[in-house]
Amino acid sequence: MSNAIATDDPARWLETVATADPERVLLETGEGRRLNYGQMAALTRRLAGSLATLDVKPGDRVVAQVEKSAEAIALYLACLQLGATFVPLNTAYTFAELEYFLGDAAPTVAVVRPADRQHVQAIAAACGVKHVETLDDRGGGSLLDITGTAPENSTHDPSTLAALLYTSGTTGRSKGAMLTRANLASNATTLAQAWRFSASDVLLHALPIFHVHGLFVAINTVLASGSSMLFLAKFDADQIVRLLPRATVMMGVPTFYTRLLQHSGLTQDTVRNVRLFVSGSAPLLAETHREFQARTGHAILERYGMSETLMNTSNPHDGRRIPGSVGPALPGIEVRIADPESGAPCNEPDAIGMIEVRGPNVFSGYWRMPEKTAAEFRKDGFFITGDLGKRDAQGYVFIVGRGKDLIITGGYNVYPIEVELEIDALPGVTESAVIGVPHPDFGEGVTAVVVPDKNAPLDEATLRAALEPRLARFKLPKRIVFVAELPRNTMGKVQKSALRERYRDLYN
Ligand code: AMP
Repeated sequence: MSNAIATDDPARWLETVATADPERVLLETGEGRRLNYGQMAALTRRLAGSLATLDVKPGDRVVAQVEKSAEAIALYLACLQLGATFVPLNTAYTFAELEYFLGDAAPTVAVVRPADRQHVQAIAAACGVKHVETLDDRGGGSLLDITGTAPENSTHDPSTLAALLYTSGTTGRSKGAMLTRANLASNATTLAQAWRFSASDVLLHALPIFHVHGLFVAINTVLASGSSMLFLAKFDADQIVRLLPRATVMMGVPTFYTRLLQHSGLTQDTVRNVRLFVSGSAPLLAETHREFQARTGHAILERYGMSETLMNTSNPHDGRRIPGSVGPALPGIEVRIADPESGAPCNEPDAIGMIEVRGPNVFSGYWRMPEKTAAEFRKDGFFITGDLGKRDAQGYVFIVGRGKDLIITGGYNVYPIEVELEIDALPGVTESAVIGVPHPDFGEGVTAVVVPDKNAPLDEATLRAALEPRLARFKLPKRIVFVAELPRNTMGKVQKSALRERYRDLYN
C-alpha cells in the first residue's frame, strides 16, 4: 500500500490534508511555534492573494532570498497554487550576485529580507523587476500586508515550470535548472514510498530551504505523506540532540553526522524513536557511516541527486545499505554509466564512467540556455550528470567524483577519491581533498590538502613515505599542504575550485 497522497499535482498535497484533517501539525519551529495543515493552507492562500494582487500570473517567476520560516514555505506553496515559478536563492548571495539572478530570471516579484529591501529596489529597478517585497523570519513582512484573492482551485499542466533552481556554478555563470510540477510530484511520491513515510512521521529539518535537499527532498516528501516536521532555523548540534527523541526521521548533509558524532549527547537512547537517518548532497565517508552505526545502531541511508534531477538513487529502506555507495536507481528512474566522450553505455560492473540519468525526475533544461541544455543531454534523452561513478554487479552506484575534478597528470587519469581514501586512512589525518593544479612538466600536479587531527605531528615527508607503497607513482601527491579546515559550502560540499585557485601557483 502506498503511503503517499494520491495526487500528481504538488499543490494538492497540502489541500488534501488541510481538508481531511486540518488540525494535523505540519511543523513546529525551534522556538515552539506550531502550524497545522489548515493554518498552512490559509497562509498559502493569503500569500497567493498577495502575489495575485502584484499581478503574478501562471508562468511568472517569483524570486525569494529570505530566511528559513513557515512563511517562506507558504510562499513556495503559493507559487504552486498560482502556477507561478518559484526561484529560491541562497541567502549568502551578495547584491552583485542577486543582480545577475534578477536579470536572468526576470521575475515579476522579488521577495527579500527587510534589511535588504532598499538596496534590492535599486537593483530591481535596473533589471526591470516591478515589485520588491519582504518576509522576515518571525512571521512578518510587507508581502503579508498586501491583501488580495487568488483564483480558487485552478489546475495547472504538469509540464508547467514549478521552480528554477540555480546551480552552485563553480565555473561560469550559475544556470537555472527548470523543474516542472511533474518532476516534483513524481520524485516526492517515489521518495515517500521508498523511505516508507507515513502520517505519523516527524522529520527533523535543519537544512536550508533554498536548496533541492531542504526544499524538495525534505518538505515535499513531508507534504506528499502528510507527516510533520521539527523545523529548525539551522543546524545546531545541541538543539538536534535535544530534539532527536521527538523525531522519527532526520535528513542531513554529511557534516551534520560528523558533528553529531563529536557530541557526547548522541546515544542509542537519544535516537530511540528515530527509524531513519538520510544523508546526501555530498559524499558520506564510509568511516562516518560505520562510526554512526556503532554508536547509534543506525545505518545511515545515503542517496544521490542534484538540482537538475532531484533524487536518482538511494540505498534501500529494507535491505543492504552499503557504506560509500549511494545505492541503486530509484523505481522508475534509469541510471547508466557511460563513456564520458562518446556516451556509449559501459555495462561491465565496476567500470568507471559518466553517470547518466533518464526518468520523470529529470528537469526540462537550463533557463534561457538552449545550447547548454542540448550539450548536457544525449540523443536518447539521458542527462549527463557530470558525476563520475561506477556500478557494481548488484546495481549499487558509487560516486568517484565530479568530472571536472578528475586530474590528468602526465597523461594519466587520477580520480581524487582514490588518493583521498588512502590519505584519510593514515593515522593523524582527519580528512583530505586532492586536487590538480597547473604543473610545468605534468600539465597538472596531484596535490593533497590535508586536515590533521588536533595536535597530530604530521609532516609532508612522513605522509608521502606512508603513501608510497600504497599508490602508483603517478597518483602520489607531488605536494602535501596542511590546513586547519577545508572550504565548504552550506551543503557541506568541499569547494575544490577554491582550493585549485588558492594553490594554482604552487609549482611555478
Ligand atoms: P546540488 O545540485 O547542489 O544538489 O549538487 C549536486 C551534486 O552534489 C551532485 O552532482 C553530486 O556531485 C553531489 N552529491 C549529491 N549527493 C551526493 C552523495 N550522496 N554523494 C556524493 N556526492 C553527492
